[in-house]
Amino acid sequence: MAVVGMKCMKCGKEFPPAADRYVCDTCGIDGILDVLYDYSRVKLTRADLERNPDRSLWRYRPLLPLAPTTPVSPLHVGWTPLYHLPRYEKSHGAHILLKDDGRNPTASLKDRASAVGVAKAVEAGAKAIAAASTGNAASSLAGFAASIGLRTFIFVPKRAPKAKIAQLLVYGATTIVVDDTYDRAFELSVEISRRLGFYNRNCAYNPYCVEGKKTVAYEIWEQNGFQVPDKVYVSIGDGCITSGIYKGFYDLVQIGLTNRMPRIIGVQAATCNPVEVALRTGVFTPQSGNTIADSIAVGIPRNRLKAMRALRESKGDCISVTDEAIKRALVEMPRQTGVFGEPAGVTAWAGFQKDLAAGAIAKGETVVVLITGNGLKDIESAISVCTSPTPVPPDLATVEAHVRQLA
Ligand SMILES: *Cc1c(COP(=O)(O)O)cnc(C)c1O
Ligand SMILES: [Zn+2]
Repeated sequence: MAVVGMKCMKCGKEFPPAADRYVCDTCGIDGILDVLYDYSRVKLTRADLERNPDRSLWRYRPLLPLAPTTPVSPLHVGWTPLYHLPRYEKSHGAHILLKDDGRNPTASLKDRASAVGVAKAVEAGAKAIAAASTGNAASSLAGFAASIGLRTFIFVPKRAPKAKIAQLLVYGATTIVVDDTYDRAFELSVEISRRLGFYNRNCAYNPYCVEGKKTVAYEIWEQNGFQVPDKVYVSIGDGCITSGIYKGFYDLVQIGLTNRMPRIIGVQAATCNPVEVALRTGVFTPQSGNTIADSIAVGIPRNRLKAMRALRESKGDCISVTDEAIKRALVEMPRQTGVFGEPAGVTAWAGFQKDLAAGAIAKGETVVVLITGNGLKDIESAISVCTSPTPVPPDLATVEAHVRQLA
């Protein structure tokens, strides 16, 4: 394994790599670590990838922080579709690509982190694994833990959508519904995991999870014909996916497979936008905001330092979209592309549409919009933005007249 250390994002202190090392000793919970690699030890070429028949995130195993012999979950993660949207080529002269990560085994991008997280738990010799989540990290962890026979303890806030709770229950995770916000559920999960000796898969806390998420960047590059796009739009909650996208492209530069980075454009909900505010003002202020996009309703983004590094160093930006725009995207994106996303899953699309309308997408640009979660995760939100048909009496004449009126 090419991992050589872990570095605090706050004070810069370095630590030797260990499966159960989560944060900096000095900085505590704010001292999120970044996994460091000796890139000269990574042997991975374009020819290796072209030859490799493994169509999953494990094709990038030399770039992942796992010992070569560590067993991994049999669930198929990654190598999700990257769709071209030719209509934008015609109307705007831009190449728009949609990466559908709702196609992972538990239907969100979180599966990339869970795949690595449960493997690290096995390396650490843990009997149980725990996480706090707004829903998707939890349902994902529950599925992956089930696939390898680990016990799971999940701390969820009360407002998680039903489908996500259903996943927890069917996978058999021990579920603790905390009668408060995600931020409180997170704090409790960290402390209780420490006291009871559970392995902790909170993504913004366990540095290995971002390493799993970075595989989405490798796939974007590879599926786009080994080319780095100009921009990647991604929704931001805790900021781990954003950090992962940066890390993935950064790795590719370090091992010489490309020489450029895309601009990473983070998208937040206007009513819960602490990263946007911190990027604009230089000052982080916790928020208690709420949004229809439950997966990004995060007032205290735990991985903000890493995410802000990603946005700054990639010369990207952070923008926000109203809940009205997210609701529009909930129906407009499926109607234009056939891809159905949950509210946080289409938030990047809403951000892309905002920039498109503002003329911020140049001709000839290649833009990737990352869809982070499947629409079936939150059908209540989806139905609430559509008009449900009213029943008609079942006789031929009435139904025919009704259909003729609609046709
Ligand atoms: C978790 C999640 C996000 C946000 O990811 P962060 O790493 O917390 O920024 C966005 N969309 C979906 C569907 C998610 O599950
Ligand atoms: Zn530190």
